[in-house]
Amino acid sequence: MTDTVVAATPPLDVARVRQDFPILQRTVRDKPLVYLDNSATTQRPESVIEAMANFYRTSNANVHRGVHLLSEEATDAYEGARNKVAAFLNADSPQSVIFTRNTTESVNLVAHAWARRHMREGDEILLTVMEHHSNLVPWQLLAQERGVKLKFLDIDDSGHLQLDNLSEVLNEHTRLVSLAHVSNTLGTANAIPTIACAAHSVGAKVFVDGAQGVPHGPVDVQALDCDFYAFSPHKALGPLGIGVLWGRRDVLEEMDPFLGGGEMIRDVTLERSTWAAVPHKFEAGTPSVADAVGLGASIDYLENLGMSAIRQHEVKINEYLLPRLRELPWLTIYGPEDPHDRCGLASFNDNQIHAHDLGTILDQHGVAVRAGHHCAKPLMRRLGVMATTRASFYVYNDLDDVDHLIDALIEARKVFGLAT
Ligand code: PLP
Repeated sequence: MTDTVVAATPPLDVARVRQDFPILQRTVRDKPLVYLDNSATTQRPESVIEAMANFYRTSNANVHRGVHLLSEEATDAYEGARNKVAAFLNADSPQSVIFTRNTTESVNLVAHAWARRHMREGDEILLTVMEHHSNLVPWQLLAQERGVKLKFLDIDDSGHLQLDNLSEVLNEHTRLVSLAHVSNTLGTANAIPTIACAAHSVGAKVFVDGAQGVPHGPVDVQALDCDFYAFSPHKALGPLGIGVLWGRRDVLEEMDPFLGGGEMIRDVTLERSTWAAVPHKFEAGTPSVADAVGLGASIDYLENLGMSAIRQHEVKINEYLLPRLRELPWLTIYGPEDPHDRCGLASFNDNQIHAHDLGTILDQHGVAVRAGHHCAKPLMRRLGVMATTRASFYVYNDLDDVDHLIDALIEARKVFGLAT
């Protein structure tokens, strides 16, 4: 995510965008749907739904193994989606893009296929306290199995990573630095190139969990200077059920497979097997072809809007959202104060109403938010709370959605007979 090219970008036409999303026409509890749970999953435009349905209607077949036309078409569609992802991330080659099920599986793939080969007792992995459990639990499992030590970068009071002692935390034992591009709870966008440069100077690899990075602005994996980058298309208008892992080609080449089975082999005898070339070495079994087709359509849609325009839109939302939330003195708001330092989300707590109760009352007003620990329990502990309420915005949300949220937050106080 970068703001450098944002200023010259024409703004999103949100009213126009909304027409592309059939689900936004529905009501919820007799109220218009105000969907503010985009960090959990976004909605899909008609073009993505139609691309998937059309694949099933016209070209459905298994990939890479058929000699018939439908299988050729399905293979072209599947590999075409890989090409689109590679261009979208500015990857060096489509062969360095692997399809998984989600970000979680991408992390586990690297933990199994790279880290188990390269890490032994006494080695260190540097993580941060703001990680989603997806980028924590796989490393904990590895640490328990191999005697690897986990270290953590802390945050400061503004919700930014504390980087002043980075060179002391990293040392010759550090094999991996793995961190979120953008926090799913604080919205903080992390300084990946700076961290990657420091990590590489001690010979460590860098894994970036881009689940909240890709949806919110332009991503260039080469400029980020990381070794692995993962994301979940369902958080960026794409289908549920497919994930992406990009890895540096030379690193992927020398990795072991993750899952064994059909499609990932070069040769098999009764005793042993050899592996297909990257990326197929990492894609055992029948892949989610229709989901890949939908992913390709979602990238077309995002690129048509423009990733810089999307970033600019979220900054505009933040510039309105944050002051409006601050007008409510009973709220504690977490994360960076500067609208440019975060993606379009805000986590907050009412000083009298539990996050779950607040979420339930907002739902009565048609406002869909998330309440809970956001799969970031260590971060909750670091903030000294059990849960927060999180409102997360995307391309079809506008300033009037902020107003609906604020009105519903005030109504919630009234339900509990609290001062407003
Ligand atoms: N990482 C971050 C920062 C996330 O926000 C999420 C999902 O919310 C994940 C990882 C996990 O994504 P998935 O459940 O699609 O694997």
